[in-house]
Amino acid sequence: MKKRQASALYTFGDLQNWREVTRKVQPSVRLGVFGDPVAHSLSPKIQNAALQHHKIDMQYATFQIAPDELADGLRFARELDFVGLNLTVPHKIVALDRVDGVDLTARKIGAINTVALREGKLLGFNTDAVAFSRAIREEFAVDLRDLRVMVLGAGGAARAIATQCGMEGCERLVIANRTLEKANQLVEQLREYFVGPRVLGPVARLQAITWEESAFRFQIANIDLVVNATPVGLNRTDPSPIPARLLAPHLMIYDTVYAHGRTPFVTAGLEAGARAANGLSMLLHQGALSFQTWFGREAPVDVMRQAL
Ligand code: NAP
Repeated sequence: MKKRQASALYTFGDLQNWREVTRKVQPSVRLGVFGDPVAHSLSPKIQNAALQHHKIDMQYATFQIAPDELADGLRFARELDFVGLNLTVPHKIVALDRVDGVDLTARKIGAINTVALREGKLLGFNTDAVAFSRAIREEFAVDLRDLRVMVLGAGGAARAIATQCGMEGCERLVIANRTLEKANQLVEQLREYFVGPRVLGPVARLQAITWEESAFRFQIANIDLVVNATPVGLNRTDPSPIPARLLAPHLMIYDTVYAHGRTPFVTAGLEAGARAANGLSMLLHQGALSFQTWFGREAPVDVMRQAL
């Protein structure tokens, strides 16, 4: 049959009439990303490049799935014989209770971004955490264990990043979140990683802080890497999550947001003389690790990078 591309965006309604909606699509869609919003996702680009490279006869598509559609969406994916899924905002945490099994690290993180279907069961994994570590090494040629890190946010991405920092034994970890309570909870969950002695001077090795300029200002001198794990920057008109005037040349700035290339945070960092990178490298590596989880073989990282 002649090849016919999948649509740019499917909805929950499409999943309900899947056989009819995709009657002419060839090869069939058996992978995808669920999110809301999700239209901006670059995952189809990198995954379809990897599938073509390995001559795997299927397509990866984008699915606009609202929070109240997630459980049924996952059920459809199982019934329609999907191979796997990626999950993005806002599904990563809730999905933990919507799958049949969760990998140990993902359970520890408390969020999943990858679902694999094995023998009719939905299994949850988290590839964001290791992808973040690879991205930092690639962008700045440093290891997390040598860094004092401040994470902005306490949602799905922040939990993966902060847990990876803990597992790799980073020097210091500060979590800033708009809802302080969530940052406090995350700190409590990570305490076991920060019990060892380190000489850090007057600052705490692990702490949650309020989302306030004065709190950021107090921390910056004792931080090497600031990571934005909030959606601030997804819209072109968003401000930098931390005011530009607080940023300093000694910092590394990593923005998990990758929309529109130079995000407001990256721009602010560069203007302050800091090194800065957007989240494309993390996207690439989480995608490569998801591909490995689904197919049990090495992902063609360079081909996927090229596709971006
Ligand atoms: P999430 O679970 O919904 O968490 C969002 C976090 O951002 C929460 O901590 C929330 O604070 C905070 N937040 C939301 N709006 C804010 C605002 N206007 N000001 C300050 N804080 C705000 O989302 P997620 O899954 O962690 O994803 C967050 C972002 O990470 C995504 O938008 C995406 O761009 C990025 N990401 C990138 C990659 C990559 O591969 N590059 C991978 C994963 C995620 P509250 O707790 O107060 O609500």
